[in-house]
Amino acid sequence: MKYFIPTELSDDTIAHLNIPNKPIQVNVKRWSLSKADNCFNNVKFYTENNDGSLQFGWKFAILGNVIVRLIGHVVIRTPDLKLKCITPQTDNRTKILFSPDDNVKDLIIDNYLPGKHIPLVENDQVKSYAKLLDYTETLRVKYKVNSPQYKAELEQLNWLATASMPAVLRAAKQHTKMDESCYCGSKTPRNSCCN
Ligand SMILES: [Zn+2]
Repeated sequence: MKYFIPTELSDDTIAHLNIPNKPIQVNVKRWSLSKADNCFNNVKFYTENNDGSLQFGWKFAILGNVIVRLIGHVVIRTPDLKLKCITPQTDNRTKILFSPDDNVKDLIIDNYLPGKHIPLVENDQVKSYAKLLDYTETLRVKYKVNSPQYKAELEQLNWLATASMPAVLRAAKQHTKMDESCYCGSKTPRNSCCN
């Protein structure tokens, strides 16, 4: 089971997310100096040298159709108030789903934008798995990524994650209809994928 990046979110899903703005499609046009996974610095540097301002918000990934990962992201608000993403994205996609949210700015620690994991279903194991994923994100902030503490804690978290995976997979199957995108993250309908 792997994360997939949705091209749209249902109203039902959006209702779970507690985000102030409905997600919109934003064009991605890589700036020559942009680096992957470095949106904050990319946009900061770009706007120091070009017109436009920073727009904070969220992009999205989905796991097993049961958990949404909200990923802090920064794009450019152009002088004519359009949004433009200049950071290269997974699969070199040319559009991302983005929900503007100025509060994301307050979450930045050391130029790092955190993620949040929101369970979409009433299932205790899915909920605790989402908490585990949240905690893993905070570790990256708490420790330096190459420190022994980080590695030790991460190893333990990975062990816990592996242990809860069967339950999460069961929930994913239970909540994916046969004609919906497969819970594995392939984007093919379930009935012609894992079943
Ligand atoms: Zn599948």
